Amino acid sequence: MFKSRSFFLIFIFLLTACTQDTVVPKGKNDENIVVTPDGKITFEIINKIKVPQEKVESIKDELLNAYDEIQNSIHTAYVPSERINVFLNEGNGVSWGLKSELQLYDIKENQYPLVHELTHSLLGYGNNFDKSRGYFTQEGFATYMADKYGENESYTHKLMKYFIDSNKFIPISKLIDLNQDDAYFRPALTNQKEYTLQWMSYIHSASFITYLIDTYGLEKFEQLYNEEDLGSKVEELYGKNISEIENDWVVFINNSQTELTYEDKRKIRSFYTVTSVIDQIDPKFFTME
Ligand SMILES: [Zn+2]
Repeated sequence: MFKSRSFFLIFIFLLTACTQDTVVPKGKNDENIVVTPDGKITFEIINKIKVPQEKVESIKDELLNAYDEIQNSIHTAYVPSERINVFLNEGNGVSWGLKSELQLYDIKENQYPLVHELTHSLLGYGNNFDKSRGYFTQEGFATYMADKYGENESYTHKLMKYFIDSNKFIPISKLIDLNQDDAYFRPALTNQKEYTLQWMSYIHSASFITYLIDTYGLEKFEQLYNEEDLGSKVEELYGKNISEIENDWVVFINNSQTELTYEDKRKIRSFYTVTSVIDQIDPKFFTME
Protein backbone atom coordinates (compact mmCIF):
# COMPACT_ATOMS: atom_id res chain seq x y z
CA MET A 1 0.00 0.00 0.00
CA PHE A 2 1.32 3.42 -0.92
CA LYS A 3 0.86 6.20 1.57
CA SER A 4 1.01 9.06 -0.90
CA ARG A 5 2.15 10.09 -4.32
CA SER A 6 5.39 11.57 -3.03
CA PHE A 7 6.19 8.32 -1.26
CA PHE A 8 5.75 6.60 -4.62
CA LEU A 9 8.12 9.02 -6.33
CA ILE A 10 10.79 8.47 -3.67
CA PHE A 11 10.39 4.77 -4.13
CA ILE A 12 10.97 5.03 -7.88
CA PHE A 13 13.97 7.25 -7.30
CA LEU A 14 15.54 4.70 -4.97
CA LEU A 15 15.01 1.91 -7.44
CA THR A 16 16.67 3.96 -10.17
CA ALA A 17 19.51 4.97 -7.92
CA CYS A 18 20.22 1.35 -7.08
CA THR A 19 20.66 0.34 -10.70
CA GLN A 20 23.42 2.90 -11.17
CA ASP A 21 27.02 2.58 -10.13
CA THR A 22 26.76 4.55 -6.93
CA VAL A 23 26.96 2.01 -4.12
CA VAL A 24 26.62 4.35 -1.18
CA PRO A 25 23.14 5.88 -1.11
CA LYS A 26 23.33 9.66 -1.00
CA GLY A 27 21.47 11.70 1.54
CA LYS A 28 21.38 12.54 5.19
CA ASN A 29 22.26 9.01 6.32
CA ASP A 30 25.63 8.87 4.58
CA GLU A 31 27.50 9.29 7.79
CA ASN A 32 25.86 6.18 9.25
CA ILE A 33 26.64 3.91 6.32
CA VAL A 34 29.74 1.95 5.43
CA VAL A 35 30.20 -0.44 2.51
CA THR A 36 32.81 -3.21 2.45
CA PRO A 37 35.59 -2.61 -0.13
CA ASP A 38 34.37 -5.58 -2.20
CA GLY A 39 30.94 -3.90 -2.37
CA LYS A 40 29.20 -7.00 -0.99
CA ILE A 41 27.81 -5.69 2.27
CA THR A 42 26.35 -2.37 3.34
CA PHE A 43 26.26 -1.73 7.07
CA GLU A 44 23.95 0.91 8.41
CA ILE A 45 24.53 2.06 11.96
CA ILE A 46 21.40 2.93 13.88
CA ASN A 47 22.70 5.13 16.62
CA LYS A 48 19.86 4.74 19.12
CA ILE A 49 21.91 5.93 22.06
CA LYS A 50 23.25 8.96 20.20
CA VAL A 51 26.96 8.38 20.70
CA PRO A 52 29.12 11.07 19.06
CA GLN A 53 29.91 10.71 15.34
CA GLU A 54 33.50 9.95 16.30
CA LYS A 55 32.33 6.73 17.94
CA VAL A 56 30.18 5.86 14.93
CA GLU A 57 33.28 6.28 12.73
CA SER A 58 35.30 3.97 14.94
CA ILE A 59 32.51 1.37 14.87
CA LYS A 60 32.56 1.58 11.05
CA ASP A 61 36.29 0.83 11.12
CA GLU A 62 35.73 -2.04 13.52
CA LEU A 63 33.07 -3.47 11.20
CA LEU A 64 35.39 -3.34 8.18
CA ASN A 65 38.30 -4.86 10.10
CA ALA A 66 36.12 -7.60 11.54
CA TYR A 67 34.64 -8.25 8.08
CA ASP A 68 38.17 -8.75 6.78
CA GLU A 69 39.22 -11.09 9.57
CA ILE A 70 36.06 -13.17 9.26
CA GLN A 71 36.43 -13.39 5.46
CA ASN A 72 39.96 -14.69 6.02
CA SER A 73 38.89 -17.30 8.55
CA ILE A 74 36.65 -20.15 7.50
CA HIS A 75 34.36 -20.31 4.50
CA THR A 76 30.84 -21.57 4.67
CA ALA A 77 28.09 -22.14 2.12
CA TYR A 78 26.06 -19.41 3.78
CA VAL A 79 25.61 -16.23 1.72
CA PRO A 80 25.32 -13.24 4.05
CA SER A 81 22.73 -10.52 3.69
CA GLU A 82 23.78 -7.63 1.46
CA ARG A 83 22.54 -5.24 4.06
CA ILE A 84 23.14 -5.47 7.78
CA ASN A 85 21.71 -2.94 10.23
CA VAL A 86 23.84 -2.36 13.29
CA PHE A 87 21.82 -1.12 16.28
CA LEU A 88 23.66 0.65 19.07
CA ASN A 89 21.40 0.10 22.06
CA GLU A 90 21.22 1.58 25.52
CA GLY A 91 22.18 -0.49 28.52
CA ASN A 92 23.47 -4.01 29.12
CA GLY A 93 21.00 -6.20 27.24
CA VAL A 94 21.82 -9.38 25.36
CA SER A 95 23.51 -8.69 22.02
CA TRP A 96 22.51 -10.62 18.90
CA GLY A 97 23.96 -11.26 15.46
CA LEU A 98 21.22 -12.24 13.07
CA LYS A 99 20.84 -12.48 9.32
CA SER A 100 20.42 -8.79 8.62
CA GLU A 101 20.94 -7.11 11.95
CA LEU A 102 23.38 -6.79 14.79
CA GLN A 103 21.86 -5.73 18.09
CA LEU A 104 24.69 -4.40 20.22
CA TYR A 105 24.63 -3.40 23.89
CA ASP A 106 27.30 -2.28 26.37
CA ILE A 107 28.37 0.44 23.96
CA LYS A 108 29.35 3.04 26.54
CA GLU A 109 31.44 0.53 28.49
CA ASN A 110 33.22 -0.46 25.26
CA GLN A 111 32.22 -4.07 25.86
CA TYR A 112 29.96 -4.59 22.86
CA PRO A 113 30.62 -7.97 21.21
CA LEU A 114 30.93 -6.70 17.62
CA VAL A 115 33.35 -9.34 16.35
CA HIS A 116 31.41 -12.14 18.03
CA GLU A 117 28.02 -11.12 16.65
CA LEU A 118 29.31 -10.28 13.18
CA THR A 119 30.83 -13.76 12.98
CA HIS A 120 27.31 -15.17 13.38
CA SER A 121 25.84 -12.82 10.77
CA LEU A 122 28.52 -13.50 8.16
CA LEU A 123 29.07 -17.24 8.55
CA GLY A 124 25.51 -18.32 9.25
CA TYR A 125 23.97 -20.10 12.20
CA GLY A 126 21.85 -23.24 12.03
CA ASN A 127 19.42 -23.30 9.20
CA ASN A 128 18.47 -19.66 8.69
CA PHE A 129 19.51 -18.73 12.24
CA ASP A 130 17.52 -21.42 14.00
CA LYS A 131 18.77 -23.89 16.63
CA SER A 132 18.59 -27.00 14.48
CA ARG A 133 22.36 -27.45 14.51
CA GLY A 134 22.92 -26.57 18.13
CA TYR A 135 25.13 -23.81 19.47
CA PHE A 136 28.49 -25.39 20.20
CA THR A 137 30.60 -24.74 17.09
CA GLN A 138 28.89 -21.43 16.29
CA GLU A 139 29.27 -19.88 19.75
CA GLY A 140 32.69 -21.43 20.20
CA PHE A 141 33.97 -20.00 16.93
CA ALA A 142 32.41 -16.54 17.43
CA THR A 143 34.14 -16.32 20.82
CA TYR A 144 37.37 -17.65 19.30
CA MET A 145 37.26 -14.82 16.72
CA ALA A 146 36.50 -12.23 19.39
CA ASP A 147 39.37 -13.51 21.54
CA LYS A 148 41.71 -13.29 18.57
CA TYR A 149 40.57 -10.04 16.97
CA GLY A 150 38.50 -8.25 19.60
CA GLU A 151 39.84 -5.62 21.91
CA ASN A 152 39.61 -7.42 25.21
CA GLU A 153 42.17 -9.79 26.62
CA SER A 154 41.14 -13.45 26.46
CA TYR A 155 40.80 -15.51 29.60
CA THR A 156 39.09 -18.46 27.93
CA HIS A 157 41.63 -21.21 28.69
CA LYS A 158 42.43 -19.84 32.15
CA LEU A 159 38.74 -19.79 33.05
CA MET A 160 38.50 -23.34 31.79
CA LYS A 161 41.22 -24.31 34.25
CA TYR A 162 39.29 -22.52 36.98
CA PHE A 163 36.17 -24.60 36.19
CA ILE A 164 38.12 -27.86 36.11
CA ASP A 165 39.84 -27.05 39.41
CA SER A 166 36.47 -26.14 40.96
CA ASN A 167 34.90 -29.43 39.80
CA LYS A 168 32.49 -27.52 37.57
CA PHE A 169 33.29 -29.15 34.29
CA ILE A 170 30.47 -29.51 31.75
CA PRO A 171 30.81 -32.63 29.59
CA ILE A 172 31.00 -31.76 25.89
CA SER A 173 28.55 -34.57 25.15
CA LYS A 174 25.91 -32.51 26.95
CA LEU A 175 26.75 -29.24 25.23
CA ILE A 176 26.34 -30.83 21.80
CA ASP A 177 23.21 -32.81 22.66
CA LEU A 178 20.28 -31.17 20.87
CA ASN A 179 17.95 -32.39 23.62
CA GLN A 180 19.94 -30.70 26.37
CA ASP A 181 21.75 -27.75 24.83
CA ASP A 182 18.98 -25.17 25.29
CA ALA A 183 19.39 -25.42 29.06
CA TYR A 184 23.06 -24.50 28.67
CA PHE A 185 23.11 -21.97 25.84
CA ARG A 186 19.60 -20.54 25.89
CA PRO A 187 18.29 -20.69 29.46
CA ALA A 188 15.42 -18.37 30.34
CA LEU A 189 17.83 -16.03 32.17
CA THR A 190 15.46 -15.41 35.04
CA ASN A 191 18.14 -15.73 37.71
CA GLN A 192 21.89 -15.45 38.19
CA LYS A 193 22.41 -19.24 38.14
CA GLU A 194 21.09 -19.37 34.59
CA TYR A 195 23.32 -16.49 33.50
CA THR A 196 26.28 -18.23 35.06
CA LEU A 197 25.56 -21.58 33.44
CA GLN A 198 25.20 -19.89 30.07
CA TRP A 199 28.46 -17.99 30.54
CA MET A 200 30.22 -21.23 31.50
CA SER A 201 28.81 -23.00 28.46
CA TYR A 202 30.15 -20.30 26.14
CA ILE A 203 33.59 -20.55 27.74
CA HIS A 204 33.63 -24.35 27.48
CA SER A 205 32.72 -24.16 23.78
CA ALA A 206 35.24 -21.39 23.08
CA SER A 207 38.08 -23.14 24.90
CA PHE A 208 37.36 -26.47 23.20
CA ILE A 209 37.03 -24.94 19.72
CA THR A 210 40.22 -22.90 20.24
CA TYR A 211 42.02 -26.09 21.25
CA LEU A 212 40.67 -27.90 18.17
CA ILE A 213 41.77 -25.12 15.81
CA ASP A 214 45.18 -24.63 17.42
CA THR A 215 45.84 -28.38 17.38
CA TYR A 216 44.32 -29.52 14.08
CA GLY A 217 43.98 -26.34 12.02
CA LEU A 218 41.30 -24.08 10.67
CA GLU A 219 40.73 -26.11 7.48
CA LYS A 220 39.48 -29.11 9.43
CA PHE A 221 37.34 -26.98 11.67
CA GLU A 222 35.78 -25.38 8.61
CA GLN A 223 34.22 -28.76 7.86
CA LEU A 224 32.82 -29.04 11.36
CA TYR A 225 31.33 -25.56 11.72
CA ASN A 226 27.53 -25.48 11.95
CA GLU A 227 27.26 -29.17 11.05
CA GLU A 228 24.62 -31.56 12.25
CA ASP A 229 25.44 -34.62 14.34
CA LEU A 230 28.71 -33.23 15.71
CA GLY A 231 29.66 -36.43 17.56
CA SER A 232 30.07 -38.55 14.45
CA LYS A 233 31.36 -35.63 12.38
CA VAL A 234 34.21 -35.10 14.86
CA GLU A 235 35.17 -38.75 14.69
CA GLU A 236 35.09 -38.72 10.91
CA LEU A 237 37.23 -35.57 10.63
CA TYR A 238 39.69 -36.01 13.49
CA GLY A 239 40.00 -39.78 13.74
CA LYS A 240 39.21 -39.67 17.46
CA ASN A 241 35.89 -39.62 19.22
CA ILE A 242 34.76 -36.55 21.05
CA SER A 243 35.50 -37.90 24.52
CA GLU A 244 39.08 -38.75 23.50
CA ILE A 245 39.58 -35.20 22.23
CA GLU A 246 37.88 -33.91 25.37
CA ASN A 247 40.43 -35.78 27.49
CA ASP A 248 43.34 -34.40 25.41
CA TRP A 249 41.94 -30.92 25.83
CA VAL A 250 41.61 -31.23 29.62
CA VAL A 251 45.21 -32.49 29.82
CA PHE A 252 46.30 -29.54 27.67
CA ILE A 253 44.46 -27.06 29.91
CA ASN A 254 45.90 -28.56 33.08
CA ASN A 255 49.45 -28.57 31.72
CA SER A 256 49.47 -25.18 30.03
CA GLN A 257 47.33 -22.85 32.12
CA THR A 258 48.14 -21.09 35.33
CA GLU A 259 45.55 -20.19 37.92
CA LEU A 260 43.64 -16.96 37.63
CA THR A 261 45.34 -14.29 39.68
CA TYR A 262 43.53 -11.72 41.75
CA GLU A 263 44.37 -9.21 39.02
CA ASP A 264 42.85 -11.49 36.33
CA LYS A 265 39.65 -11.89 38.32
CA ARG A 266 39.41 -8.17 38.73
CA LYS A 267 39.77 -7.66 34.98
CA ILE A 268 37.27 -10.33 33.92
CA ARG A 269 33.98 -8.57 33.69
CA SER A 270 31.49 -9.55 36.41
CA PHE A 271 33.74 -12.42 37.53
CA TYR A 272 32.64 -12.28 41.14
CA THR A 273 28.96 -11.87 40.29
CA VAL A 274 28.88 -14.82 37.92
CA THR A 275 30.97 -17.17 40.03
CA SER A 276 29.24 -16.33 43.31
CA VAL A 277 26.37 -18.71 42.50
CA ILE A 278 28.41 -21.46 40.86
CA ASP A 279 27.94 -23.83 43.81
CA GLN A 280 24.18 -23.36 43.69
CA ILE A 281 23.84 -24.65 40.13
CA ASP A 282 22.15 -28.06 39.98
CA PRO A 283 24.96 -30.68 39.94
CA LYS A 284 23.13 -32.61 37.20
CA PHE A 285 24.55 -30.12 34.69
CA PHE A 286 28.08 -31.29 35.48
CA THR A 287 27.68 -35.05 35.74
CA MET A 288 28.70 -37.51 33.08
CA GLU A 289 25.96 -39.83 31.98
ZN1 LIG B 1 26.90 -15.72 19.99
